[in-house]
Amino acid sequence: MKESCGLFGIFSPKPDPKISRTVYYGLIALQHRGQESAGIAVGDGEKIKYHKGLGLVNDVFNEEVLGELSGHVAIGHVRYSTTGSNVFENAQPIVVAGQRGSLAVAHNGNIINTRELRSQLEKKGLPFRSTTDSEIIALLLIEQGPDMLHACLDVTRTLQGAYCLLIMNQNRLIAIRDPLGFRPLCMGRLDDCVVFASETVALDAVGAEFVRDIEPGEVVLASGSGVESYRVSPSKSAFCVFEFVYFARPDSVLENVSVYAARERAGRILAIEQPADADLVVGVPDSGTVAAIGYSNQSGIPYGMGLIKNKYVGRTFIQPSQKLRNLGVRLKLNALRELVKGKSIVLVDDSIVRGTTMGQIVKMLRSAGARSIHVRIASPPIRYGCYFGVDTSDRRELIAAVLEEKKIEQLIGADSLGYLSLEGLVKAVGLPSDRLCLACFNGIYPLQVPSFCTKYLFEKE
Ligand code: 5GP
Ligand code: MG
Repeated sequence: MKESCGLFGIFSPKPDPKISRTVYYGLIALQHRGQESAGIAVGDGEKIKYHKGLGLVNDVFNEEVLGELSGHVAIGHVRYSTTGSNVFENAQPIVVAGQRGSLAVAHNGNIINTRELRSQLEKKGLPFRSTTDSEIIALLLIEQGPDMLHACLDVTRTLQGAYCLLIMNQNRLIAIRDPLGFRPLCMGRLDDCVVFASETVALDAVGAEFVRDIEPGEVVLASGSGVESYRVSPSKSAFCVFEFVYFARPDSVLENVSVYAARERAGRILAIEQPADADLVVGVPDSGTVAAIGYSNQSGIPYGMGLIKNKYVGRTFIQPSQKLRNLGVRLKLNALRELVKGKSIVLVDDSIVRGTTMGQIVKMLRSAGARSIHVRIASPPIRYGCYFGVDTSDRRELIAAVLEEKKIEQLIGADSLGYLSLEGLVKAVGLPSDRLCLACFNGIYPLQVPSFCTKYLFEKE
């Protein structure tokens, strides 16, 4: 299970020796969206300089590196791979050189027609270094010629899938959101600079003011002559509901909806749909905390921190095996014996994906003396793979795609298990359901997914 990436970009009308520091702070605020690699590219009017590496933003950057990266336009990226593995060449921004200068590209999402696009480019003899969608996008842009805006508008018509893009050359910055607006991207203002970020928390972190979301199908150009907006298609939207369930930080506002408020409402509706007779509501930190508070508010059952999270557990670069994942939960979470001993507990989490986390936590709470454990999940069962930026395209790994609810309940060792309904989730978010992508829950894809993607899609449940 991999998460979305995070993007941050800034255009300043004049040279700013501290520009990469602003991007650095923005990326730190978006670190939850990707921990595999981080990178920043800066344009100083003449050329693009960049630095990127594997690991957390803090591992990749230090004072010295940031000091080298001055200019007046910059983009940054934090990555969790959805296409291509976690190797240095795949770190972003991707910088490619054309005949008339270089381009840097940072991408969040997943392109579904990459095979065709890549073979077209290969036939033309263009060299690939990485294995990512982002490099394909960069090469397509370069191929379009020197007018960056024209190239972006053109490429946007060729790409299919989910993409938020930040694209820059040595002196201009372009922000793009795909026509269905799967992933979030907003615009802000910081003094006389224009900034773009995946989530509003990054604007808060750098002291920028929120201006608006980039619209689905919108291309925004920031340059010396100000901000210009272009539309590639009429806006229709399929915003990823999982951004509200899991990805985004609770202090972000997406599509004018507070993530915190949506999660709190999801917890309340969950309490109405799936009541439980218990003494204590415990949330699985951090992703289940807000829904647990909502459950408690609605049911009147007191909320308590029955699970404590170790904030300092680092990420490992080793692709986690099941054994490591099991150990990972214990390293990350511990039960608060004093609080849970002898109690009947409602245990709330945001989602069950493979079912690994929940089984471990139930066991942990039982050995800390919990009398009974009623698991409540603040989203519906995940039964379908995602092709738009979440790495769950293998359905066989999704526990709810292969097992019935009663079986899952037994497997995780809960006294009872209850999920939020899809109607409940949509109501909690508060956006019309035809503006959301709900495919991981209902299998209705807003774009036709190619057959190689749906390898497991048509298998019988
Ligand atoms: P499971 O153990 O069932 O595979 O995963 C469920 C847990 O993973 C939940 O606590 C949920 O917060 C978290 N989760 C849900 N989606 C994602 C994701 O895309 N990436 C990561 N790293 N965790 C996720
Ligand atoms: Mg979690």
